[in-house]
Amino acid sequence: MNALGSRLPGVLLLGLFVLCDVAWGRTWTTIEGRRSQGELVSFEENQVTLLIDGREYTFPVSRFSAPDRAYLMKWKAEKRCGICRETVGADKMQAGEQIYHPACFTCLVCERPFLDRQSIRRDEWGGLVHTEHFRQVPRCGTCGRMFSKKTAKPEQFFSDGRLSCLACLRDAVTDVGTLDAVAKRVRLGMSELGLPKPTGPLTMRLVSQKRINQEVERAHGRGSLRGLTMTTFRTVTGGTNAGTTYTHEVWVLAGMPVVECTSVLAHEFGHVWMNENFIEASPPSVEGFCNLLSMHALQKETSKLAEVLRKNLEMSDDRVYGRGFRDMRQQLNKLGWSGLIADLSTRRVHPSKRRR
Ligand SMILES: [Zn+2]
Ligand SMILES: [Zn+2]
Ligand SMILES: [Zn+2]
Ligand SMILES: [Zn+2]
Repeated sequence: MNALGSRLPGVLLLGLFVLCDVAWGRTWTTIEGRRSQGELVSFEENQVTLLIDGREYTFPVSRFSAPDRAYLMKWKAEKRCGICRETVGADKMQAGEQIYHPACFTCLVCERPFLDRQSIRRDEWGGLVHTEHFRQVPRCGTCGRMFSKKTAKPEQFFSDGRLSCLACLRDAVTDVGTLDAVAKRVRLGMSELGLPKPTGPLTMRLVSQKRINQEVERAHGRGSLRGLTMTTFRTVTGGTNAGTTYTHEVWVLAGMPVVECTSVLAHEFGHVWMNENFIEASPPSVEGFCNLLSMHALQKETSKLAEVLRKNLEMSDDRVYGRGFRDMRQQLNKLGWSGLIADLSTRRVHPSKRRR
């Protein structure tokens, strides 16, 4: 058995506009006349983020009908609180460019208001804490969003030690049906690149962090992974059944939001392809290539979460996953996808011919 691990940070867009029948928020209309219900989350630069059916989607403002654009411009012109996004009157607090309701301008840990000249840490999502309380604030393991321990729901603290913000939890993949739907989309993206479906059967399982770590340890791999691919193969020489057959098992951390799950599955399916082709390359090349597939999947997503996950991928200082990714991206820029895939395919070494 060979076990190849992977680690990954990681919204699935079901078409560009999702129609749903949730009776809240506002009805939005695209320039083509398609309508959907959603709550406005943010409008920054030219990007509009809507919360539709529990999931955030980001669209360019140009996609919206003229009345919607007028509504958006008016919304943007109003002074809004950086925390709750409601309008702010004369009674306000200011930090940098952003204004807040006095009641919102409080630390997520000690809940006290910020005073003049106190140093404040802000996460990418607008959350605020006193710098000295930064180490105590729970942060989402996926998106890095800080949240208040006191107001958090028990489900945000996973039994295996992981933490999740409410937004990521709302979109968590916890059943095999959803996982299958994510897998279908990931496969589609890979076939665009010229990577075929595996020839052998593939089973997917949603598991805890503890379970993945145990398996990784057993295989002398590296810890704290979000997905794991195990391929077993059988080679028959001679006779009518000559040839190699494969069976794949892909483990995915349960409870990741759909976008992160997409990224992790793309990475793992990269391993599946490499395993079936017996591609022999260094760990940074293997993990780097699999991370390229994650990046490709994440580039199709327009949410802020996808942006955060892309950044994590690009900035990772991990010797294998981070540097490997950047090296392989250089190769990709030089060779293109088909060239890169062809190049990797030449590194096929059947295990019976490997020197180890
Ligand atoms: Zn990997
Ligand atoms: Zn507020
Ligand atoms: Zn504090
Ligand atoms: Zn989160």
